[in-house]
Amino acid sequence: MNTDLFQQKIALLKQREHANLIAIQAIEQWILSNISNIAKIHRIIPPVVAEDTQIPLSILIPEFLYAVFGGLFDLNWNVHCPRCYGVTSSYQKLAQAHHRSYCKMCEAEFKADFAQWVEVTFSLNKAIDDREFPPLCSPPNTIKVYYQMGADYLQTISGTEKFEQTGVYAYKCPLTGSKGTLLIEGDFTEEIQEVNLSQLANATFTPDKIHARPGMLKINLTNLAYPLSGLQAHIMPLPEITEEYLPPQLTGLALFHYPEFRQLFGHQVLSQREQLQVASVTTVFTDITGSTQMYEKLGDATAYNIVRDHFDILFKQIEQHRGIVIKTIGDAVMASFTRNDAALRSIFMALQEFTRYNQTQPLEAQVYIKVGIHCGTAILVNLNEKLDYFGSTINKAARIQAIASSDEICVSEQVCQDPAFFNTLKELGISQVSRHAVNLKGIDGVQTIYKIALNKTMDNFSLSSLTQ
Ligand SMILES: [Zn+2]
Repeated sequence: MNTDLFQQKIALLKQREHANLIAIQAIEQWILSNISNIAKIHRIIPPVVAEDTQIPLSILIPEFLYAVFGGLFDLNWNVHCPRCYGVTSSYQKLAQAHHRSYCKMCEAEFKADFAQWVEVTFSLNKAIDDREFPPLCSPPNTIKVYYQMGADYLQTISGTEKFEQTGVYAYKCPLTGSKGTLLIEGDFTEEIQEVNLSQLANATFTPDKIHARPGMLKINLTNLAYPLSGLQAHIMPLPEITEEYLPPQLTGLALFHYPEFRQLFGHQVLSQREQLQVASVTTVFTDITGSTQMYEKLGDATAYNIVRDHFDILFKQIEQHRGIVIKTIGDAVMASFTRNDAALRSIFMALQEFTRYNQTQPLEAQVYIKVGIHCGTAILVNLNEKLDYFGSTINKAARIQAIASSDEICVSEQVCQDPAFFNTLKELGISQVSRHAVNLKGIDGVQTIYKIALNKTMDNFSLSSLTQ
């Protein structure tokens, strides 16, 4: 490692105005104490650093991003296989993102969902640490993994494991991309069965098929070709990993929602025709009540200034709760969040600010908004060099907003049933929630939506819409 350059970059990072010195120091210490662990240093997982340093992710990530900007770190987008969690592709520029990926190990193609299977990691910039290491990651603990050993060049290493179940297993090296099939069949044997396995060049194991009986199997792995080769085995085929068993990770979608990412890397966009699937995103639409009358009564210039004030209040709260303003459509705003509760908090805070704002304004210049929130799958695209979403979730969110009254938040059933959202309602002291069966324009069937009235800001408004 080039220690001088590392220290220089750290010093530079600390000079930034508003730099969080405690976070930078913690990152520095974390790097120095893990420097000999090349796998960890080449795949710096922010939630792991947060856990080790006890500094919240929301404080660490901005420093990581400034560190990438300043040349201390590289930012890597890794696509993970939803079965073995192996890295199937890795890129440094968003323009290289692709909506599908293929796992050689599992021989399966999958959708590279940006909210699930695309993970962001950091590594030391090549000018500081030029050690080469393939992107390696451990499978989640739902998979029973046999062996887990590594052999240096020309080394032979042995491992013995007990196979009780007959069936097909894969043995592979996540470092070299080599693999083979282990077939366990026949009757149980008390004898230790022994196999010699060689790692050859061109990602090849020989033999690439092993037959054995249930019982103890000793494998001697000789590495004849690579600086390091390893061995893992697990049953085939693997089921898809469910979200609760995913290792801690920073997803691509979560990184998008950091304002620092957009400030520093906003120029990085998807390629024009690419559409990335996002398993779940929370979409918020807002609109000003009676803005047409406002323009008529106050004149364009004055009304426009009020609309600008309203944008300032909303944008600030959206950003503070790690949301993104995707676009404005006239006076309406579309924003996205990775969490339903964050969307609620941001709107709640904005509504409180509007109440304060209105106290300083004459009646005709007061601002009230109508809000709709929905979550679900969407497609992430590059529209005019900016991030945008498409899909039925987005359309439905807009339709839900259209039925909201002033100072009212309408949310879909999916949002209301999210425990984090529900708990936030309680925490914010919001108790006026009513359930309604409605028809939404352009959407088939009767839809259940919930109308949320905010006590603190309802003083001037009728509650008639809630008593339907
Ligand atoms: Zn796989």
